[in-house]
Amino acid sequence: PSGTPLYRRVLLKLSGEVFGGGRLGLDPDVIGRLSDQIAEVVREGVQVAVVVGGGNFFRGAELSQKGMDRARADYMGMLGTVMNCLALQDFLEQRGVDTRVQSAITMGQVAEPYVPRRAIRHLEKGRVVIFGAGLGAPYFSTDTTAAQRALEIKAHVVLMSKNGVDGVYTADPRTDPSASKLDEVTYADALRQRLKVVDATAFSLCMDNRLPMIVFGMEGDGNVARAVRGERIGTLVTA
Ligand code: UDP
Repeated sequence: PSGTPLYRRVLLKLSGEVFGGGRLGLDPDVIGRLSDQIAEVVREGVQVAVVVGGGNFFRGAELSQKGMDRARADYMGMLGTVMNCLALQDFLEQRGVDTRVQSAITMGQVAEPYVPRRAIRHLEKGRVVIFGAGLGAPYFSTDTTAAQRALEIKAHVVLMSKNGVDGVYTADPRTDPSASKLDEVTYADALRQRLKVVDATAFSLCMDNRLPMIVFGMEGDGNVARAVRGERIGTLVTA
């Protein structure tokens, strides 16, 4: 409804926390609203690929603090993201949107393997491609996965949604009351100032390859649709 989409192909990162509505497991109301927004922009002709996090199930770093081997804990984290992918797939298909899940860890019964050229073909046909299991390797995050997948499928922007924060701040707003939100920042400045809303690996991959990123909050209705359409929202991060 509000203008022509600015981006033709986007990579949307959804954190696992969003799927759980702040708790363990899945919140169908939240996933439903999210799917409505994605369906809306897909109908406007935007090609949407999604990288899904898994923080509503397991985070490797947290499990390893409880005594688990870090790499094994990270694999558990990756498996959690696949459950979120299947949930998103289901809600999107209920809304008439064609989808494909591609997993970085092979599991033929539930997902295609990650094949980048095939992912691009799906996008060209108007299917939403949902990437699961991160990069398939421990010690990485799904934020970094979002940057890598965006580059490989030639997305025009990374739309990095965050839970509980609506952009990049000069400091951590949860601990520093003087922190203020930035409308724009360069990757170099964000890295130099150690602004950690997004992990450094993701920032530096995008910086080196001159891929823009928009960091925005999920609070408030319609933010995903707004970001995908290219409306100014959150913080624009550029090389
Ligand atoms: N993970 C991993 N390699 C990857 C992506 C994810 O090992 O390439 C694991 C890691 O343990 C991480 C978990 O999967 O904590 C869930 O992903 P993430 O924490 O990025 O999810 P989010 O915070 O977005 O919900």
